[in-house]
Amino acid sequence: MANETIFTKIINHEIPADIRYQDDEVTVFADIAPKAKVHLLIVPNKVIPTVNDIRQDEALLIGKLVLTAQKMAKELGIAENGYRLIINCNSDGGQEVPHLHMHLLGGEKLKGLGF
Ligand code: 5GP
Repeated sequence: MANETIFTKIINHEIPADIRYQDDEVTVFADIAPKAKVHLLIVPNKVIPTVNDIRQDEALLIGKLVLTAQKMAKELGIAENGYRLIINCNSDGGQEVPHLHMHLLGGEKLKGLGF
């Protein structure tokens, strides 16, 4: 498909990844270049390129990304201490992969973002 991404290949098990959770809407896998002790990517199985492309009828799916992050944080035992959820958008936001994804970072005291 034209809008397939590297993440689509991971979701479809065509290339290897450390997949921690998967259902028919969402896949969670470890980031290949972790920025914290815990660094997971929470990704909708369908390709939505950026936050700019989210449609009204995808609101529940976007909510599910957050609830999946919450579930993973609880399972990993980092919920109480806390964690950070990040979605980068386009070049100024630092987005590298044009397939919407939420970073779940934690497992240690995270540095501030400087604002
Ligand atoms: P972005 O900068 O787009 O918000 O985040 C993309 C993230 O995907 C980066 O943190 C990068 O390390 C991760 N990443 C890129 N390619 C791969 C890959 O092939 N496998 C995995 N597991 N992570 C990847």
